[in-house]
Amino acid sequence: MHRLTDKVALITGAARGIGEAVARRFAAEGAIVWLTDIDDAGVAIAAELGAAARFTRLDVRDEEAWVATFAQVLERDGRLDILVNNAGITGFEDGPAAHDPEHATLAEWHRVHAVNLDGVFLGCKHAIRAMRATGDGSIVNISSRSGLVGIPGAAAYASSKAAVRNHSKSVALYCAQQGLRVRCNSVHPAAILTPIWDAMLAGAEDREAAMAAFVKDTPLKRFGTVDEVAALVAYLASDEAAYVTGSEFNLDGGLLAGSAASPG
Ligand code: NDP
Repeated sequence: MHRLTDKVALITGAARGIGEAVARRFAAEGAIVWLTDIDDAGVAIAAELGAAARFTRLDVRDEEAWVATFAQVLERDGRLDILVNNAGITGFEDGPAAHDPEHATLAEWHRVHAVNLDGVFLGCKHAIRAMRATGDGSIVNISSRSGLVGIPGAAAYASSKAAVRNHSKSVALYCAQQGLRVRCNSVHPAAILTPIWDAMLAGAEDREAAMAAFVKDTPLKRFGTVDEVAALVAYLASDEAAYVTGSEFNLDGGLLAGSAASPG
């Protein structure tokens, strides 16, 4: 459990859900962990994790905040080894809304892309600059299964996550061209049980039945767990993945492996 000893890692959206689990796993693996979020619940998690964890508020849409945050990291810990661009929104946080290609508003389209795509672009941009000091690093971008297939009712989310997949490859190739040992990969979870689902399950009379319906076409017939995502991210962040860059990793209970409609 010490694959990340002395590495300095920053995670966005780390106050809950997948980001929190990644922060906990990184701390267990020996990393110095910067939890960041717009939600100050991250303060208590960092305190619980101890002396090697810090929390700072970071809205991933804000370029000046990124610059200031990485300056803080370099000043205090001297280096940046790992960035996990995890913060993301579905667009349904305030309840049901039209997010299909015909009825989504431009404002909603931009709002989702601002967090999910602009935030990842800014994180990669400034992490590359910070990682030049050592020439080493690992960037893990949390995309989604929705970035690999169309989602008619959540078109902005799907579009933003597809762009994250492609941008991760551009970042990987750019860093390699630059002679940097900075790797960049994307992770594509399907349904992982976190608070992100609360808004989507809110109207359900029977929450368990609604959850079962969401995963009825998933071969493994269950939601994934945040710890299962954190385990994959820890591998990609570690030196064990030194030859892995520009790749995408599905974590979806077999959902994308094929179709129930296949012959036979
Ligand atoms: P959660 O909603 O549980 O956590 C996301 C965190 O990001 C929250 O703390 C949220 O704060 C924070 N956040 C929102 N906007 C910003 C912002 N502008 N800047 C910084 N932080 C922000 O989500 P999950 O843990 O479920 O998801 C994490 C990532 O995984 C997301 O990118 C998501 O799209 C992706 N993913 C999740 C799946 C799932 O089924 N859970 C499946 C596929 C991908 P606040 O609570 O204040 O809004």
